[in-house]
Amino acid sequence: MLAASNSSSAFELSQHLPLKPIRGQVSIAPAQNQSRALKTVICGAGYLAPADEQAAHTFGASYNLDSLSSEVEVQDHQRNIDTLIKTDPTLHSLLGEVKASQLDGRAALRCTSPDYLPLVGPLPVFEDFVENYGGLKRDARADIPLSGSYWPGLYVHCGLGSRGFTYAPLGAEILASYICGEAPVLPNDLQKALNPARFIIRDLKRKRI
Ligand SMILES: Cc1cc2nc3c(=O)[nH]c(=O)nc-3n(C[C@H](O)[C@H](O)[C@H](O)COP(=O)(O)OP(=O)(O)OC[C@H]3O[C@@H](n4cnc5c(N)ncnc54)[C@H](O)[C@@H]3O)c2cc1C
Repeated sequence: MLAASNSSSAFELSQHLPLKPIRGQVSIAPAQNQSRALKTVICGAGYLAPADEQAAHTFGASYNLDSLSSEVEVQDHQRNIDTLIKTDPTLHSLLGEVKASQLDGRAALRCTSPDYLPLVGPLPVFEDFVENYGGLKRDARADIPLSGSYWPGLYVHCGLGSRGFTYAPLGAEILASYICGEAPVLPNDLQKALNPARFIIRDLKRKRI
């Protein structure tokens, strides 16, 4: 199973997977008397989570396409503060006088795909796809009645982007159904939309390979 986020494409057989890292940072602020009353996550342009056992709120999270650093940056804290105000100024005021330079945080790289959907399914054999579906370069609408060629027993689960909490359980069910040879979890078109081979087909149609 390749479920190593952006490193899922670090292997010879998987280097064709078009993964795209996007930096993100969450900010952590100490709870205040008023903010302790918050019992659920409030989401909008950004989000604010209830205080945890350490009496700290997390809020965020920033998106930054220009940097691959996982260092915590003050300017990203400021973006998170600005986004929280945009979400609801009351939420921001619950946290008292928050200063970007005094916040804690955590930064990491999300793993995304060109269509921002996850990659869930068997790992395609790149060369076989290029050969078997080569007709798509001449006619992108050609009906090629061949089933895909995949590495036996090798599956992919990555590209969950900002939605790991919601995509991961669905992805796990889909993979379990592939591995156990059970009925598909999703209708065919949705399952295809997540198939890791979709980018090879798309690139053939666009004559990129
Ligand atoms: C700042 C930030 C905020 C986020 N906020 C949210 C949120 O509010 N809600 C939400 O749903 N999602 C959020 N996400 C996204 C969520 O974290 C990811 O979608 C999720 O973690 C993806 O899960 P994963 O298992 O695919 O990858 P990861 O959680 O990154 O796990 C990948 C694992 O692979 C391991 N690994 C890497 N390379 C190798 C290798 N070569 N060999 C072996 N192991 C390897 C890593 O050590 C790691 O354990 C956020 C992400 C960031 C960065």
